[in-house]
Amino acid sequence: MSELATHEKTTSEAAIPKVGFVSLGCPKALTDSELILTQLSAEGYQTAKTFEGADLVIVNTCGFIDDAVKESLDTIGEALADNGRVIVTGCLGAKSGQDGGNLVRQMHPSVLAVTGPHATQEVMDAVHAHLPKPHDPFTDLVPPMGIKLTPKHYAYLKISEGCNHRCTFCIIPSMRGDLVSRPVGDVLKEAKALFEGGVKELLVISQDTSAYGVDVKYRTGFWDGKPVKTRMLELVRTLGEIAEPYGAWVRLHYVYPYPSVDEVIPLMASGHVLPYLDVPFQHSHPAVLKRMKRPASGERNLDRLARWRELCPELVIRSTFIAGFPGETEEEFEHLLDFVREAQIDRAGCFAYSPVEGAAANDIPGMLPEKEREARRARFMEVAESVSAERLRRRIGATMQVLVDSAPALGRKGGVGRSYADAPEIDGVVRLLPPEKISKQLKVGEFTRARVVATEGHDLVALPI
Ligand code: SF4
Repeated sequence: MSELATHEKTTSEAAIPKVGFVSLGCPKALTDSELILTQLSAEGYQTAKTFEGADLVIVNTCGFIDDAVKESLDTIGEALADNGRVIVTGCLGAKSGQDGGNLVRQMHPSVLAVTGPHATQEVMDAVHAHLPKPHDPFTDLVPPMGIKLTPKHYAYLKISEGCNHRCTFCIIPSMRGDLVSRPVGDVLKEAKALFEGGVKELLVISQDTSAYGVDVKYRTGFWDGKPVKTRMLELVRTLGEIAEPYGAWVRLHYVYPYPSVDEVIPLMASGHVLPYLDVPFQHSHPAVLKRMKRPASGERNLDRLARWRELCPELVIRSTFIAGFPGETEEEFEHLLDFVREAQIDRAGCFAYSPVEGAAANDIPGMLPEKEREARRARFMEVAESVSAERLRRRIGATMQVLVDSAPALGRKGGVGRSYADAPEIDGVVRLLPPEKISKQLKVGEFTRARVVATEGHDLVALPI
């Protein structure tokens, strides 16, 4: 995903420095971008719509897979060609090149500064060094929720950075380091500001949400004068309480199937947070999970899912999987297909294993030919899609609450929204038909009730009521 930030303040003062900003990569990178843009705006910098119109350009990069590295390096090249003064931040900034030096500096020696991810202060220091901040900052022009790159009604809330695990296919810990949990008081304060700024759906993200607070030994912080532990259960409960008066949703991503998550499920059953869990299982066979060095790999996941669904029957599970991991036998792969059928995963994504440079898994014997990895991915998706389609069909006739994402002409011709079962950008949507009642309007960022009348691939079709 790439966006050139278009937030621009109206002012006649030509002397105000302008910064161009390109945000590449995942939602975690996006929240880094938002923090930097918020800070820039708080200090009185403007953002420019074009590279040429900027005094300098910041490129927030992604270094996860080879395509992302190429896209990031190309974007830096373009910014250098069109503007010449470029600061690089993000995952690629932490990556080494062939000679062990910094990869970005090796490829583009003329960049002004390079930082790793989650480095708002370092980026701001570099901006101050190369483009001194304006004399009179317009701090009061910053909206209370900061500058958002997502639509106004949903926002990502990053609760920690880094990861203590060492999954063999992943290089994130080498780029982002071990888990560092944000203070619980800061996280809750940010959540409250987002709701006050009009956010109706908060997406909690991190590398491992269930591990929140492990690094600080679940230290007690404070929110609203009351003690709150830096721990997933307390965080989620308090987020639910803060969201309630705003009628907003809280959705959890990247949760591992640890026993401690059992305690969060009743909060879903009681409506405190959405009954939706994004659990990246990656595989089901114990031997493959061991080769992957996955967290919670010893857990009995089918039993755990069954218990969760008993406690909260409406629970929706989204997950991602890897097909064709090095050494995966046909039997191990079929174990995975059986798991998806039995676990009744509502939404599944699957990658064919791709050897990411620097990942330990590349040295595991038994690399499968690319054609076979792709074939397994296709076989997986066929099974996963039929499970998903069947589960979607069961919703026909139900009435659901839908958050409206798009509604041209106040929904007179219908619109598009999402139910609790659909996270933005990764799941399906609810296609809203034109309302039958003339007086019924649909507004972006507001909820509507809708009766499901059909399914269409990964999506539902529903009539607003
Ligand atoms: S849990 Fe594994 S896959 Fe996820 S960030 Fe940590 S090391 Fe990477």
